[in-house]
Amino acid sequence: MPKTHCLQPGTPVLINELPTQGKMFHPDREAAEAEFSTLRDELIVLQRKLYAENKRRILIALQAMDAGGKDGTIRKVFRGVNPQGVRVTSFKAPSKEELAHDFLWRIHRPVPANGMIGVFNRSHYEDVLVVRVHDLVPEAVWRPRYKMINDFESMLVGSGTTILKFYLHISREEQRTRFQARLEDPHKNWKFSLEDLEKRKLWQSYMAAYQEMLERTTTDMAPWYVIPADQKWYRNLAIMRVIVQKLRKLNPQYPSPAIDLSGITID
Ligand code: AMP
Ligand code: MG
Repeated sequence: MPKTHCLQPGTPVLINELPTQGKMFHPDREAAEAEFSTLRDELIVLQRKLYAENKRRILIALQAMDAGGKDGTIRKVFRGVNPQGVRVTSFKAPSKEELAHDFLWRIHRPVPANGMIGVFNRSHYEDVLVVRVHDLVPEAVWRPRYKMINDFESMLVGSGTTILKFYLHISREEQRTRFQARLEDPHKNWKFSLEDLEKRKLWQSYMAAYQEMLERTTTDMAPWYVIPADQKWYRNLAIMRVIVQKLRKLNPQYPSPAIDLSGITID
């Protein structure tokens, strides 16, 4: 049974045909939010166990066009989860020092340690997306990166890391609405950037870059989930479902006490 929104390795991806609106789970917002909040309670317990067990790691990578909802997803999904067990890393344009190294150099250090959930807000995938669309390096440099990324992820998975990759798929219309809100809402003004408008002009080139990236880096060990993300409530639930299902499967356990606790009294 194919998993909902999960891509199959070796299958061509037609990004313009993938839905940006979800109706798979619940037709209405209220029911979706109720399920989301139940699942979040479960996530909080599962994360406690993952942290206590201190053996396995989860890496969650979020990619999207500007205003695609990466920040909102992190805020909503991890609200209430022990902050000590979650580390969010946001990848901006590389520094001079980062550019003087291979593209995975800055990525490897913040990958999650035992017991941790690492969340990447953007990721190594920018190096085959923005870098490609804006010609920051020649094709001869970015094209081999698909394989390098797959090899890198294979090494992480082989060393005990579970990787979940989410592409938050929004429509160009929805991006317009969200940019407009950034212009109008004083709480959102700070997020508005003229650069984002330049990137919006290149929407189709971005879609082509995303499409090839999704196709070439969907592997059995780390497939992409393409999440319909025009409705935030649907996006949150779809992502929460994948994370909770994966954690249930990992079934983390509290370590058993190293000593017999039954006879101990505390004075
Ligand atoms: P934001 O997510 O709004 O804070 O923006 C971060 C910016 O950094 C975006 O415009 C990204 O395209 C850019 N960025 C992230 N990673 C890279 C990269 N490897 N090369 C070039 N630009 C990048
Ligand atoms: Mg931005």
